[in-house]
Amino acid sequence: MNSSYYKYCIVPQCKSTTRKTPNKLFIYVPNSEQIRKKWLKLARRDDVHSLSTNSRMYFCADHFDVCKRIAILTVPPACPLPVG
Ligand SMILES: [Zn+2]
Repeated sequence: MNSSYYKYCIVPQCKSTTRKTPNKLFIYVPNSEQIRKKWLKLARRDDVHSLSTNSRMYFCADHFDVCKRIAILTVPPACPLPVG
């Protein structure tokens, strides 16, 4: 029952998971609905409505890079996610 430790990146086409890439940093998407919507939009997830704020979501470090430290607090609009 250690499934709670399993994390995967919610960015489309990103295959990062704690199993495949255990050394990768996964950044928890804050529970705030506003922030989640913003992050999901950046990640180009269109299925925002189906994603509850109660569920755990993570972005892997690939999508933060230099913006990582700021992104933990908020996603600056000038910090595009390199998708694909
Ligand atoms: Zn990722």
